[in-house]
Amino acid sequence: MNQTAKEILFLNPVLKELVWGGRRLVTEFPYESEAERIGECWAVSAHPHGDCAVKEGSFQGMTLSQLYRERRDLFGNLSYEEFPLLVKIIDARQDLSIQVHPDDNYARAVEKAPFGKTECWYIMDCPEDAALVVGHNAKTREELRQMIEEGRYEELIRQVPVQKGDMIQIDPGTVHAIKGGFLILETQQNSDITYRVYDYGRLVDGKPRQLHVRQSIDVIRVPDRSGEEAVKKAAPLPENAWNLLAESPYYKVWKLNVKGEFSFVQEHPFLILSVLEGSGTLEGRPVKKGDHMLIPCGYGSVSLTGEMECIASTAVEKP
Ligand code: ZN
Repeated sequence: MNQTAKEILFLNPVLKELVWGGRRLVTEFPYESEAERIGECWAVSAHPHGDCAVKEGSFQGMTLSQLYRERRDLFGNLSYEEFPLLVKIIDARQDLSIQVHPDDNYARAVEKAPFGKTECWYIMDCPEDAALVVGHNAKTREELRQMIEEGRYEELIRQVPVQKGDMIQIDPGTVHAIKGGFLILETQQNSDITYRVYDYGRLVDGKPRQLHVRQSIDVIRVPDRSGEEAVKKAAPLPENAWNLLAESPYYKVWKLNVKGEFSFVQEHPFLILSVLEGSGTLEGRPVKKGDHMLIPCGYGSVSLTGEMECIASTAVEKP
């Protein structure tokens, strides 16, 4: 057996300073940054805007994109031209812009990028009686255009009530916004293409951030078919079991509540494991809240111990 092929990858996260970000990622998690407003921790990413490097072991210093190019066997020889997923934690101190993402076809044709963006949000924390923006109320594209041009955003957007533990699926073309007070683990396609519909008139360095009204009107799905259907409500979940919370043509995402001991066989192209709460061990090695690991293809039996809430995810091969 080739030992190097069986190493679990521990990655160095990339922190992102963003106008709406807070301090929770450095006060509640083991991440370091001097920045005042840290919006995102890109925990498992091979994107050129934040390519995580391997922290230790045989591949120390290599970036995830490089490893995916040179050692595709670690990722089940997936046929995607780039590493397909990006996992991040988002700390929104203020509201994020109202936005929408393109699908693969639009991203390739218009942005010359390999992936559009399908994403899902696991709500790690949020205020009582909170809501997120998911979907819109325009019945035709013409009505959508009018509402955007006339700035009737309150009428346009749909507010969906949510709580801690909910999972929200955001397909391309879905108008959406995260609001202030949310801490979210996002699993998404490896893409950074965001079309900003509205930014609350905020100024960054004295200027409004660019809006992408034309592209937004192109890609927003009309009529909308998301809203409440996009939300998988929080429910008591069995311990030491794979609780599937989100599924798309690109990824599967599970909640895993480890209590005591839990073993399984890693049979996916790869498995990302993010510890959201608690601590324990992974294959005998201590792991804790804020750690993200990638278990490669063919790793075999995996042993977890402790008391931990985890999100696990994997990529789905192209049809
Ligand atoms: Zn988004």
